[in-house]
Amino acid sequence: MIRINQIKMPLHHNAAALEQKIRKRLGLSGDQELRYRIIRKSIDARKKPELSLVYSVEVSTSGEEKIIKRANDPNVTIVKQTGYHLPGAVSPTPSIPPVIVGAGPAGLFCAYALTMSGCAPVVLERGRSVTERTKDVERFWESGVLDTVSNVQFGEGGAGTFSDGKLNTLVKDPTGRNRFVLETFVKFGAPEQILYENKPHIGTDILAGVIKNMRQAMEARGARFCFESCMTDYRREADGKMFVEVNHKEWIETSRLVLAIGHSARDTFGMLYQKQDLVMEAKAFAVGFRVEHPQEMMNLQQYGALHAHELPAAPYKVTANLANGRGVYSFCMCPGGYVVNASSEEGRLAVNGMSYSGRDGKNANSAIIVAVTPDDFAGKDPLAGVRFQEMLEERAFAIGKGRIPQQLFGDYCSNRASVSYGAFESATKGACVLGNLRGLLPQALEESFIEGMHAFSRRIPAFDREDAILSGVESRTSSPVRLVRDPKLLVAAGGIYPCGEGAGYAGGIMSAAMDGLKVAEAIMRDMEEQRG
Ligand code: FAD
Repeated sequence: MIRINQIKMPLHHNAAALEQKIRKRLGLSGDQELRYRIIRKSIDARKKPELSLVYSVEVSTSGEEKIIKRANDPNVTIVKQTGYHLPGAVSPTPSIPPVIVGAGPAGLFCAYALTMSGCAPVVLERGRSVTERTKDVERFWESGVLDTVSNVQFGEGGAGTFSDGKLNTLVKDPTGRNRFVLETFVKFGAPEQILYENKPHIGTDILAGVIKNMRQAMEARGARFCFESCMTDYRREADGKMFVEVNHKEWIETSRLVLAIGHSARDTFGMLYQKQDLVMEAKAFAVGFRVEHPQEMMNLQQYGALHAHELPAAPYKVTANLANGRGVYSFCMCPGGYVVNASSEEGRLAVNGMSYSGRDGKNANSAIIVAVTPDDFAGKDPLAGVRFQEMLEERAFAIGKGRIPQQLFGDYCSNRASVSYGAFESATKGACVLGNLRGLLPQALEESFIEGMHAFSRRIPAFDREDAILSGVESRTSSPVRLVRDPKLLVAAGGIYPCGEGAGYAGGIMSAAMDGLKVAEAIMRDMEEQRG
C-alpha cells in the first residue's frame, strides 16, 4: 500500500481531477490499475483568499516498490496495513460475565469488544436508554425541572451524547484503535466522511441513533444492558468472588468489574473513596465559561470573505500561557452550536456545548478555561477537586436562580451586570438569564480568564469583543479524580478495571472509546492467562 500525503487540490474539483493528480504523483499512466481511498481531507486556509483542500490517500496498485523509488518524494511512502483486531474469542465462555458500569463511550466500546470476542458482559447504566433520555433532556431544557437519573451527563451514550460529537483525539494510535472506533460508528449509522475528515464530527442527532444501533447489535449477541441501574456498592469475598450492588437492592456476581463511570458520578466517587480499596488521587483539570461569538465572524476570520458562505462552519482553537504560569485555552469548540445546561445535580449548574450534524446554529461557542491544579483546591484528599467543582456550580446556580447565568465580556471586565445582549443573541438549550458572573471563579482565575480572552484576540481579531457572551460555569471539562491503575494490566485491584474519562485515563469521546477497547483487551488477556 502506498501512502501519499499533501495532495493539494483547488477548493472546487471532482473525483477525476483527484485521481489524475494521484497518477501524476506516482507516474502512472491512465490505463494502469489504481485503487485508492482518502484517509485525510482538510481545508488549507493559509493563503487566503485562495483556499485549497489537502488530501492524504492510500493507494494500491502493482509494482509499489518501484513506484516509490521512481517518485523519490518524502510524501510518497510504503505503509503496512495494520488494521485493529479484536481480541480473540475465549473458550469456554466464562459462566460469570464481566460487569461494566457505565454506558458512555468507554463502557460501550469495552462492551462491544468483549461481546464480539464471545464474552458478552452485563452493562449497568444509572440513566435511561438513549431514546428515553433524549425526551428527559428536552423536558429539562424546556421546563427547568432536572431529572437526576437521566440528564446530559447520565444515561445511555454517556456525557457526549448531547454534544457536538467531535471525534478527534490527540492520542497517538499505532494500534489502529482510533480507526476501529470510527469504522464502528460508520457501521452503525455515522456518515463515512468521519473516516477521513481532519476534524470529524457526528452531531448529537446522528450520535443518538448510532449508539442505539450499536447496543442492539450487542444485545443480539448476548450482552445485557440494564438501565436505571446504579452501582451503589461492591464487595469481595474471601474466596475471591466479587459482587456488585445495584440501586441499594440487588447483588450480582462478577469476576471482573469495569468502572467506566465518567467524570460526573460524584456519589460513586464518594462510595469508592469510602471503601479505601482503590488508590485515588485528585488531578488537575480546568474551569471557566462557555463563550459565544457569531459563527459568521469565525467563518470570515478562518476562510476569508470569498469563501466564508460556502464552507462548513469554521472551528477554532486558541491557547495562551500566561505570565502567572497558568494555561488558558479553548476546549470543546462547537461551530454552529448551542450552549447547553448540562447539570446533573439539584442546586448546581454546569454548562457545556453541543451542535447538530449540520452545525447550522448562528453562534460559535467554546469553553474558555483556565487550568487548575490540586493546589487550587481546599483540602488535600482525592475528592478536593470534586468539592471545588461543586462550589462553582452552586455559585452558578445561585446567580442564575437555576437558569444559565450569562454576562457580556465587556461587562464582566467592568464588573457590571449585563442587562441586554449586544449585536447578537445567545443560542442556548435551557433557560438563561443575564447578570453578573464576577465572583463566581476565584479572583486569580477571573484575572487569568480576562487576560486569556485579550490574548486570543491577537490571533482572532475581536475575540475579546465587548458583546461576546459568557455562560457559567464550565466545570466538568475533565475528571477531577484519577483511579490509579497498573499501567500494563490496566487493573487497579484484583478484578477491578478503572476505564475512560472518569478514571482519569481519557478526555473526549474518542480517547474514552479507545480506552474501553484497551480495557477489554486486558480482560481478555487475563482470561486467556487464567485458562492456560
Ligand atoms: P461518560 O461518557 O461520562 O459515561 C459514563 C457513564 O457512566 C454515564 O452514562 C453515567 O450515567 C454512568 N454511570 C456513572 N456512575 C454510574 C454508576 N454508579 N452506576 C451505573 N452507571 C453509572 N467529547 C468529545 O470528544 N467531543 C465532543 O464534542 C464532546 N462534547 C461534549 C458535550 C457535552 C455536553 C458533554 C457533557 C461532554 C462532551 N464531551 C465531548 C466529553 C465526552 O462526552 C466525554 O469525554 C466522554 O463521554 C467520556 O466517556 P466515558 O465513557 O469515560 O464517560
